[in-house]
Amino acid sequence: MKVERTLSIIKPNAVAKNVIGEIFNKFEVSGFKIIGIKMMRLNKKQTENFYHQHQDKFFFIDLILFMISGPIVVSVLERKNAVRYYRELMGATDPKKAIKGTLRAEYGDDYTANALHGSDSIKSAIFEIDYFFRSDELS
Ligand code: GDP
Ligand code: MG
Repeated sequence: MKVERTLSIIKPNAVAKNVIGEIFNKFEVSGFKIIGIKMMRLNKKQTENFYHQHQDKFFFIDLILFMISGPIVVSVLERKNAVRYYRELMGATDPKKAIKGTLRAEYGDDYTANALHGSDSIKSAIFEIDYFFRSDELS
């Protein structure tokens, strides 16, 4: 197994629930090392560029409006097979379908407000980490 990095976003609904610390604790006890953290509020253009692969999907506008509705917390997580393990920890995209104990099952409200984002491949992780962090901001 290879040490990898993946990008996590705690989405606005989870930040509003005051569970940033709880979620970071779950990252850590699940074997992830947090090597970069930023809290920010995205604008429309930044969000559209980040989610460019979904620009033709029916849910795109709702997703963009939701992601700019409040602050988010972006972090870079490191561990062996980080992309796959983080997707497992998040659970299914639709919180109603996410297995009990996964983060989206616990903190997600609906399909759009599903509490967390995670990179879906090593290639996406490289693009997404670079989108938010300079290399000298990562420990
Ligand atoms: P993810 O990788 O599990 O986050 O899912 P995707 O990359 O396919 O989609 C990006 C985000 O768009 C998801 O996290 C959801 O918030 C939202 N989304 C995806 N599919 C749907 C859908 O079928 N309906 C709605 N309303 N939102 C969706
Ligand atoms: Mg995705």
